[in-house]
Amino acid sequence: MSIIKLPGAIDLHVHLREPSDNKAETIKNGSLAAAHGGFSLICDMPNNPGNPTWTVAKLKEKIAIAKKNATVTTLFYAGSQPESNNIAQLESMASAGAVGLKLYGAPTTGNDKDYTAKDFEQIIKEWHRVAPDKPIMLHAGADNLEDLINLVTKKYSHHLHICHVHSSKAVKLINSYKTKGYKISCGVCPHHLLKTSHETLGKGWFSRMQPPLANQDEAESLLKLFAGGAIDLLESDYAPHTKDYKLAAETNNPHGVHKPTHTTCFGVPGIEHIMPIMLSLVRKNIISLDRLIDATHTQPIKVLGLDKNTFGPAKNYAKWDISDQSVKRISEKDVISGSDWSPYVGYIAGGKLIKLVSSGKIVHETK
Ligand SMILES: [Zn+2]
Repeated sequence: MSIIKLPGAIDLHVHLREPSDNKAETIKNGSLAAAHGGFSLICDMPNNPGNPTWTVAKLKEKIAIAKKNATVTTLFYAGSQPESNNIAQLESMASAGAVGLKLYGAPTTGNDKDYTAKDFEQIIKEWHRVAPDKPIMLHAGADNLEDLINLVTKKYSHHLHICHVHSSKAVKLINSYKTKGYKISCGVCPHHLLKTSHETLGKGWFSRMQPPLANQDEAESLLKLFAGGAIDLLESDYAPHTKDYKLAAETNNPHGVHKPTHTTCFGVPGIEHIMPIMLSLVRKNIISLDRLIDATHTQPIKVLGLDKNTFGPAKNYAKWDISDQSVKRISEKDVISGSDWSPYVGYIAGGKLIKLVSSGKIVHETK
């Protein structure tokens, strides 16, 4: 066996669905799936369907569930939208432990509108006042990316993280600000690197997500930008829906119309398979092991400004078997997610998790 020890992977972008109207996942099971994938820390987004994290009471409810049930360290973001009227809650959410503020500037789960930067100005101003060191995480819209970058990074000198970039044009824009010294970073999802828009033709809603899959050329460009470090980090956007939910959307809305009048079901699961697939890319020299560590540990810690003593590799690490014997095809039996399916069944795993330590505790060990 050939064993390597890596810092615990950190995923800044998961949707654990609890508490919410979507019963596809729980904090307990979603964090278990993350543990099986070598993630020692995950950060959960606020747009729980029907139950968004817009108040300190909701945030504390999630923190309490995680304390009791989570397998790996699980932290939470606060949410605020122009229509949530919760600016007065931001200070108490920041002091109760929210690691950042998530803004949805485009239609997705829990939000059906595109917004302008101006719509968010009062929210951004207040977050900067109450949490100057905690980032704003942005799901950008079609036309508001540059305006929001200017507002957050230029006007307020606040750290802005652009979630799930899916075009090389956006990466270039973000890097033009980064090189000028503005506080900005971006992440990419494995599905935008490894899957393409053609999938929706055959797989329908099982391959529909927001932002949508890129075309082949874009996916290849994004992979190069990621491998070269122009994209700071990897984020899963783990967003499970059950097979039944996906099939209902397929029956009721086969063309994927994104309107409140239509059944929608965006997002993919598969967090348990991301690191093994990334290790297969390392085996093929598509990305370096150093870059993978940087993108799944060093940069996430930097973006959230986390304490390295608590969240760094001394108390958070994974041992992986990367021998030839560890290479295998991912099968249905490897699915841990409450969604009960994975977009990565059939993909090649290039490593097998032997042991995972999260916040100093052994949380996974292969017998
Ligand atoms: Zn998301």
